[in-house]
Amino acid sequence: MSLDKAETGRLQELLSRVGICLDDYLKFEQADTLTRQDTWQAVLAQPVPQQGVGIDEVTRELVEQVIPNGSPVAKPGFSGFIMTGATSASTIASTAAGIASPQRYGLTAFNLLEEVSLDWLAQMFGLGDMKGVYSSGGSVANLVALGAARQSAFEKAGHDPARDGVDRAVSIYASSECHHTIQRAGGVLGVGRRAIKPIACDNQARMCVDALRAEIENDLAAGILPLAIVANAGTTNTGAIDPLKAIGDIAGEFGIWFHVDGAYGLPGVLDKRLNDLYHGLEMVDSVIVDPHKWLGAAIGVAATFVRDRDLLERAFTQEPADYLEGTVEQSDAAEPKIEHSMDDFGIPYFNYGVELSSPCRGVVVWAMIREIGVEGMRERIVRHNDMAREIAEFCKQHPRLELLIEPTLSIVCFRYVTSTETDLDLFNQRLYRRLIRENEFMPSTTRVAGRLALRPCFIGARTESDQVDGLLQAILRIGESLVTRQA
Ligand SMILES: *Cc1c(COP(=O)(O)O)cnc(C)c1O
Repeated sequence: MSLDKAETGRLQELLSRVGICLDDYLKFEQADTLTRQDTWQAVLAQPVPQQGVGIDEVTRELVEQVIPNGSPVAKPGFSGFIMTGATSASTIASTAAGIASPQRYGLTAFNLLEEVSLDWLAQMFGLGDMKGVYSSGGSVANLVALGAARQSAFEKAGHDPARDGVDRAVSIYASSECHHTIQRAGGVLGVGRRAIKPIACDNQARMCVDALRAEIENDLAAGILPLAIVANAGTTNTGAIDPLKAIGDIAGEFGIWFHVDGAYGLPGVLDKRLNDLYHGLEMVDSVIVDPHKWLGAAIGVAATFVRDRDLLERAFTQEPADYLEGTVEQSDAAEPKIEHSMDDFGIPYFNYGVELSSPCRGVVVWAMIREIGVEGMRERIVRHNDMAREIAEFCKQHPRLELLIEPTLSIVCFRYVTSTETDLDLFNQRLYRRLIRENEFMPSTTRVAGRLALRPCFIGARTESDQVDGLLQAILRIGESLVTRQA
């Protein structure tokens, strides 16, 4: 039967069965799930059951069929995209939140940790007294930040875009390397994807400041309202950091909202060797970071920071509703007293973004930072940056490897080269496919200046320096065998 009525000790027993299985999963001794595809698909792809099987059977299927057939993303050798597994601290915190605080509202320890952890992130990344709000990922975090930018730009022109919609053409300036969630945010915010003006980059994939200035001046002459400048602190492709200081100066000069997309790369500010690259961060109007990337949170945690959350409130309020605000309003009381955790929602995060119901994400970030501290985070970030640099140096020495762009953070782009191949893109694509099938080292690929690159991105908390050697040896071995087979 189900666990609807609490039976003492049952949840503990079930969690421990799942926990044992997850520990096992983290050994990554299994072959890829598709090698067993027929078995688990046959068990799981069932029509909707009219009668339940009970929680013991559910747990058994979870442990036997689901977890062992999960994703390789958490593997230490996985370095594809900008993805990684959750740390244990994050895992236990999000499980706890799911049960003990199903929402982030009410005057609870979980609600308190929303704000405490946002402030910790701001302190850790040198954002001064900027205030934050969590959302599900960088996509939504960028949308929320650009919602604030839209509100600010239109209010200055005497218009409330959240209430009345947008009434004129605008531009959002972002480098041609920006994440495409910026375009989507333009679409959702009603200014249109085409409002995003791609600004050319230099040969290190950084926004050209002169091109930015020219584009703004053109728009102003044409009567187009500049809505925001979006700079990258760590592009998704190569990890490049735009010249934040110079861009911030231009934003200041023209009075344009300055947003930094640090979904992946904001934690790079912890690497003191890179401090210069983050100069200008103090000038931003908004900035985002994805704790579910480099900090190791379970998926579904991003944060947007702004100077003034009232602006977010004006951008995202849903207007008061009886079933919400009416519940905690105490206008009838002579002396409203807060005596119960449900007498108040706490900080109205639901007005600062696009989510009402939301999991508690603060406890996850709190747990991760509390576990290893800022210094522990710094050590991890430095280690990952070092790994990218080590590969870059190796490529410079090795006749078969070509570095395609200097790494800035923990992404490194390179390729296998051989004079016997005419199409190196195709060759590296084939090499990459073979590498993935070996199921040990899993970078992804991208294009750098038109060339297909192997692109590891090291962000995993479980990814240690010894991965570098293994990855390079595997690439060289596969590359060589493909060449020999050709010959
Ligand atoms: C990953 C990423 C995003 C999107 O974040 P999600 O959490 O995947 O929604 C946005 N911008 C940059 C720079 C990213 O790397």
